[in-house]
Amino acid sequence: MEHKELDRMVEIIDHEIKKQGISRRDAMKMAAAGSAAFMMGGTSASAATTAHAGDVKGKILIVGGGLAGISTAARLTNTLSNPDITVVEPTDTSVSYQPGQTLVGAGLWQKSDITYQTKDFVPSGVKMIKDKVVEFNPDNNKVKLASGKEIAYDFMIVAAGVMLDFGKINGLEGVITSSGENSSARKIVGKNGISSIYFADGAVDTWANMQKFIEDAKGGKKVKGVFTHPNTPIKCGGAPKKIMYLTDARLREAGARENADLTFYPNGSKMFGVTEYHNAITRQFEDRNMQWNYRHNLISVDSAKKTATFNRHWKEKGPWDEDLEEYSIVMNSKEVEVPYDFLHITPPMKAPDEIAKSPIGSAKGWVPVTKETLQHIKYPNVFSLGDIAAVPMGKTGGSARKQYKVVVENLISQANGKELKSKYAGYTVCPLITSIGTVMLAEFNWTKKPTPSFPFDPTQERWMWWLLKYYALKPMTVYGMLSGRA
Ligand SMILES: Cc1cc2nc3c(=O)[nH]c(=O)nc-3n(C[C@H](O)[C@H](O)[C@H](O)COP(=O)(O)OP(=O)(O)OC[C@H]3O[C@@H](n4cnc5c(N)ncnc54)[C@H](O)[C@@H]3O)c2cc1C
Repeated sequence: MEHKELDRMVEIIDHEIKKQGISRRDAMKMAAAGSAAFMMGGTSASAATTAHAGDVKGKILIVGGGLAGISTAARLTNTLSNPDITVVEPTDTSVSYQPGQTLVGAGLWQKSDITYQTKDFVPSGVKMIKDKVVEFNPDNNKVKLASGKEIAYDFMIVAAGVMLDFGKINGLEGVITSSGENSSARKIVGKNGISSIYFADGAVDTWANMQKFIEDAKGGKKVKGVFTHPNTPIKCGGAPKKIMYLTDARLREAGARENADLTFYPNGSKMFGVTEYHNAITRQFEDRNMQWNYRHNLISVDSAKKTATFNRHWKEKGPWDEDLEEYSIVMNSKEVEVPYDFLHITPPMKAPDEIAKSPIGSAKGWVPVTKETLQHIKYPNVFSLGDIAAVPMGKTGGSARKQYKVVVENLISQANGKELKSKYAGYTVCPLITSIGTVMLAEFNWTKKPTPSFPFDPTQERWMWWLLKYYALKPMTVYGMLSGRA
């Protein structure tokens, strides 16, 4: 299965690259220096890591066994001669492929296509504890689990991801994870047109709601689709738009697009933080007759009335400031009620409270690390990566793929009293699905400029990137990253 998927992916990419008029050999060369090298088959550990000397004596504790936690455990296992690694994770399916939830939400994949059992990915020799860390005592190198058990460590890696805070929106309930227990959120989300691809069962319900929405439009009803983006940092900033593009595509496929209004209500005032991608997205929205209203934050949902209430906020010229000799700027806001037939909610997100409010957390909740070395700013034997780390623009699997190698190398250096030389450079990638069959591969880093791995205009939607998204990224993540090789 694994090899078949990889072979098929390589075959398809070969074909597409030839169509672009370059040989695979040249494409490999071009990709080799960039982040996309693994997509073309370069998955060996030796290719991905720099040489280092030294082993680690002592216990390594990893908090959170999702994508970042298990990938790190695997790479440490591959790298160290006799590692002592414990992972604490409460969910049996924590390694499930979250990026695929977007495709499940649009009926292109099934939930079974993205569900993976964590036990199948635990590296040999790693001790897995099904529990949750509830207390952190970094001054004494200890944590406490929900069961009451205490664990001592020499090094700790925090990879506990984000919590989806549906309960922050009036009318909804629950603070859940993408693949864990979700009954609180599902009391409302999933029913009556209210949808969210941010958790796996929510993605299944999204497809059911979307089909009803399309049926109504096909039957001649004028329908409204509303898509939100909250006022907190979120994982995969592209996903709120991807599901909107896919709704548009599904409506067109059904011949019902003219009966539907589709409107995006982001809290911010841009489509994307990188100007080139922002410009491309606004063009794509205009071409598809998709609307948007900036500076709207969803605060309440009335499921019975099918209305969403937003806090619309804007800046205004205020009174004259005598000292500065200019007009001051004042913030203004008002509540706006919007009717919907289909509502896609991207929930507010936060770090788990038990971490945010602990000595290893921060005022904003995220674990404060030096953004290049990923070492905790206060506790040198603590590292953090993935969605929970306080790293700008870093909440994607693409970022975690760069970060886990840095954490492994720096932890080894720290254990051996050496300088931390490995540096995360802020790379991230958003394969922005723009229709069934096209993707804009938005790669960028802290410079907020496009950083394409291939010599093609990165703002173009391409069939080739769709193939990459649809066929390649899942096996490369599940078999490559989770085994610590890609
Ligand atoms: C709809 C959607 C689309 C996405 N699309 C893309 C995409 O196209 N490209 C991309 O690169 N990324 C995408 N992502 C983002 C990507 O899935 C995440 O960035 C990635 O999973 C982060 O890995 P992580 O290990 O930090 O968090 P997770 O994989 O979420 O794992 C964190 C784990 O920590 C556990 N945990 C929490 N608290 C504790 C505790 N106190 N003790 C012990 N364990 C704890 C949780 O149970 C969880 O299993 C998408 C995500 C979603 C939801």
